[in-house]
Amino acid sequence: MTVVAISKQKGLDVERIRADFPVLDQKVSGHPLVYLDNGASTQKPSQVIDVIKYFYENDNSNVHRGIHTLSQRATDRFEGARKTVQHFINAKSEAEIIFTSGTTESINLVAHSFVRSSFAAGDEVLISAMEHHSNIVPWQMLEQQIGIKLKVIPINDKGELLYEEFENLLSEKTKLLAITQLSNALGTITPLKKMIDAAHAVGAKVLVDGAQAIAHTDVDVQALDCDFYAFSGHKIFSPTGVGVLYGKRALLDAMPPYKGGGDMIKVVSFSGTEFNELPYKFEAGTPNIAGVIGLAAGLDYVSEIGIGVIAEYEHELLEYATDKMLAIEGLRIIGTAAEKASIISFEIDGVHASDLGTLLDSQGVAIRVGHHCAMPVMEFFGVSATTRASLAFYNNKADIDALVAAVNKAVSMLR
Ligand SMILES: *Cc1c(COP(=O)(O)O)cnc(C)c1O
Repeated sequence: MTVVAISKQKGLDVERIRADFPVLDQKVSGHPLVYLDNGASTQKPSQVIDVIKYFYENDNSNVHRGIHTLSQRATDRFEGARKTVQHFINAKSEAEIIFTSGTTESINLVAHSFVRSSFAAGDEVLISAMEHHSNIVPWQMLEQQIGIKLKVIPINDKGELLYEEFENLLSEKTKLLAITQLSNALGTITPLKKMIDAAHAVGAKVLVDGAQAIAHTDVDVQALDCDFYAFSGHKIFSPTGVGVLYGKRALLDAMPPYKGGGDMIKVVSFSGTEFNELPYKFEAGTPNIAGVIGLAAGLDYVSEIGIGVIAEYEHELLEYATDKMLAIEGLRIIGTAAEKASIISFEIDGVHASDLGTLLDSQGVAIRVGHHCAMPVMEFFGVSATTRASLAFYNNKADIDALVAAVNKAVSMLR
């Protein structure tokens, strides 16, 4: 496996990084691909692809079961990956790292294990108005099923959370704050640490949706002091179908299992079954072994470059892109928070987002058009859809220039 040759002092060598991502080197509709849909899913470096290929060619076997060599190797790599995740987010113990299929499953795990088993009718779950559907719908389902109350922290027209309203909503009835660290629809960074401390002060627990944040900002779950943190592999240069739920050990220990099956038990008999210890209690069935190993490779890749270096580079690129985009006539950026990262959602007077998206694709520019799984955000801004360009550290100024040129061309055709 090759190591990324980037000096942390010298900042980011984008050309070198781009060479690590084979998918970027192609033409779409006769134009060089400009991939600006990282908010939906990121591309994978060769380092990740190679690790998965190596696993299937050399070590493939089930984990935690076999006495034979391959099973032991697979188990070592799988459990090694858990340590990699632990260090990446600075969890206290590897027992606090639960592998799931992604952010959506991680949030559902908290909903169905933690909330369902310990909340009563009238207990309140607080979310913000800019959540992804996966951090809205599980709570709505529990509203119907066990009578919890969902409360929503409003936002202003820049897409910033109204902090005073948040404080007003907090009470001893608040049992859980479930909040995004970085909005996928707007790019807003929430004042997480402050919110966590305020929620704890009324005795509430805090679940952070880190799906967008994980690839763009340093995450230290002990410094944040969050109770749960959820993210997906595929948004941080790793495979689809794998994700993480971090939870504080005492909470996870007290929670009942969420799925029943193999690997999550110690003893099964018809007179009673004894559950396994953490983290296995929450990992029923054969996990996505290659995905987990690939995730560790993705996190290693990011660590090698340094998330601080990435954040700084992306911040500069976002400012460059924002200035260039605002120069386009009739373009309005949706989401202009003071604290922002990696995302530019916009609409253009007289232009349908879906028409724009199609014309951009015909020029090789991949962006996302739609509600971005955040329909309440669209409703708030009075639009049915936006066009969203979302950045990763392999994007460069040439990508932004190509986007702007393609938008200008599309607009001249559509108007
Ligand atoms: C993508 C995303 C999710 C859902 O992630 P999945 O990988 O689809 O489970 C949740 N929240 C935010 C903010 C996201 O960007």
